[in-house]
Amino acid sequence: MKPQNRQATWRWTVAAICIASLAQVWPGAVWSPARAADSVARDTRLGGDARSTRFVTVLSKKVKFAIRTLADPYRVVIDLSDVKLNLPAGRGKKGKGLVSGYRYGRVEPYGVRIILDVNAPVRVEKASIWPARDGKPPRLVVELTRTDRKSFIARQRKNAKTRIAAARKEGRKTARASPSLPSPGRRKSRRAKRVIVIDPGHGGIDPGALSKSGLKEKNVVFSFSTMLRDHLIKTGRYEVLLTRTSDSYIPLRQRVDIGRRKGADLFISVHADSIPGRQAGDVAGATVYTLSEDASDEEAMALAAKENRSDIIAGVELPAEANDITNILIDLAQRETKNLSVGFADLLLSSLSGKTKVRKKGRKSAGFRVLKAPDVPSVLIELGYMSNPADVKRLRSSAWRKKVAGAVADAVGAYFAKRTARNPN
Ligand SMILES: [Zn+2]
Repeated sequence: MKPQNRQATWRWTVAAICIASLAQVWPGAVWSPARAADSVARDTRLGGDARSTRFVTVLSKKVKFAIRTLADPYRVVIDLSDVKLNLPAGRGKKGKGLVSGYRYGRVEPYGVRIILDVNAPVRVEKASIWPARDGKPPRLVVELTRTDRKSFIARQRKNAKTRIAAARKEGRKTARASPSLPSPGRRKSRRAKRVIVIDPGHGGIDPGALSKSGLKEKNVVFSFSTMLRDHLIKTGRYEVLLTRTSDSYIPLRQRVDIGRRKGADLFISVHADSIPGRQAGDVAGATVYTLSEDASDEEAMALAAKENRSDIIAGVELPAEANDITNILIDLAQRETKNLSVGFADLLLSSLSGKTKVRKKGRKSAGFRVLKAPDVPSVLIELGYMSNPADVKRLRSSAWRKKVAGAVADAVGAYFAKRTARNPN
């Protein structure tokens, strides 16, 4: 499938999911693609009490939106298309009535997401755009009422069924249009430059791990990733792309899709870990992870669960495998991809160990969602621990970042040299 088609397919799926959730509340509503002239969200307001609460977003002009609820914890997710956020500082910290607070940020590619944290199961009683009137700008008005868990879950199930059915329908279309997966081992050897996708972890609504001093994982890994990109580009041998180029939230699934769409030869996800409690001072150093359904140990499993939570934090709830191409094809491609990923992880570790602290058991595996491309060799590197003062010092140092980016780039070079030697044409 052509790259543009894949992108279109993804967009369509997102749109379908949004429309499916919209249809529960407002039949006939349609999600439109992004337009150039964005509306600006200037303010938000909360009103009401613990039985019924109103959330208002003041806009510069009308927009399309979608809304849905999530459980455990209870949240209301509002997606707005074609909007820029320009809210007064500190908005969302204070709650009222059913809403205990709210978060917001960009979610690529379709706009802005506002997540209301609610302190009880709620029902979206009404949600509509009020047009400009009497000198007042247009507003999105959402009315929430308290409900019980049973009816909340029942409504959720009904909505999820509709969304999954829509995504499955789209998945079948994708399978028909894409009869085979390219083999990661054989394709592109004739392409002039290898394609590397670097994935700076978290972003926007989800800051990732935090150090005691307030350093955010999303910023550390972004700065490291751009350094690594520059390093790789300088060699003249690679085309390098980042999954995010700003502080915005990108769902894990979309990060995987970027790698696949670009026909990446290698996908490197960059993170920084953190562990709570008394151990925090003792555990330091880098770890490299590959994908496995059976985690190599409990720590790896817990970490994967934590990294996978990113989508929950940002209110993403895509059905896990609905848009995948048939499983048999994936299985075939996956075995080769897995071997390549492990091979790269080992090269990466030996390159890193000369340059920085690496954990004793440096390579581990677990079910990281972001490593799930069946045809792109993928690894996830945890640069160090935000919970360890010595690691934080290293992570903050631009000289360290540069040295470690160099080590990663060396490993990339070694990986492709090995592959070219084995597979000369
Ligand atoms: Zn992370």
